[in-house]
Amino acid sequence: MRKKIVAGNWKMNTTLESAILLASEIDTRLADSKKNVDDVTVLLFPPFPFIHSVADVVNAEKIGVGSQNIANQPKGAFTGEVSAEMIASTGVGYIIIGHSERRAYYGETNEILAQKVDLALANNLDVVFCCGEKLEEREAGQYFDVIKTQLSETILKLSSDQMQHIIIAYEPVWAIGTGKTATPEQAQEIHAFIRNLLSEKFDDALADSVSILYGGSCKPSNAKELFSQPDIDGGLIGGAALKAEDFVQIIESY
Ligand code: PEP
Repeated sequence: MRKKIVAGNWKMNTTLESAILLASEIDTRLADSKKNVDDVTVLLFPPFPFIHSVADVVNAEKIGVGSQNIANQPKGAFTGEVSAEMIASTGVGYIIIGHSERRAYYGETNEILAQKVDLALANNLDVVFCCGEKLEEREAGQYFDVIKTQLSETILKLSSDQMQHIIIAYEPVWAIGTGKTATPEQAQEIHAFIRNLLSEKFDDALADSVSILYGGSCKPSNAKELFSQPDIDGGLIGGAALKAEDFVQIIESY
């Protein structure tokens, strides 16, 4: 059975104080929840400087903490960069790689992303690997090809053992932070397509074991319908992850 996962990507938001408050409130609300939230894996991705403080205030048995980025080099003279080894040494277990904002604003190519995935896995981090098409690619009907290329040049090169540490997030770029959500049918179509790519490259058992999350303006009002699709195994949440109440409601909607 693949894991149900709801992950919060805080992006470049919060301060030390508000990050601790947000994490504590999520932790308390989850502990007090009357819904069955125990079978959902909850992940938080705060900004680098707050990772350790956030990990300190949440119940590690219920909430995993991770980093939004790592360098594509193992160590050395790369001023300002943070390595996979550094992240792993803080005790957190997860990393987001391939977010469309990193691809668009920091020129992260599939080649760079593949290097980051290798470094993350070599340091025992589980990877949330993002893929998704831009609006013009969707309108031109190229979205299957775009996603196939993003995955073929990166995670589909991994071994089946390495794939046990990969979570995929389908995030149509036109839905991220725009308020426009993919319809459950649009999202399901791509999730099934991704699972089929995994079957072709590996086998059905592996394809069935990989969690595929949806991301893009997911909120309490649309989460339930999205998560009820057969190939949608949870969400990567941006804006709505910054409000404890909304984030926990999304988790509860499972
Ligand atoms: C994201 O950036 O991963 C994301 C899904 O953002 P939002 O939920 O704000 O669209």
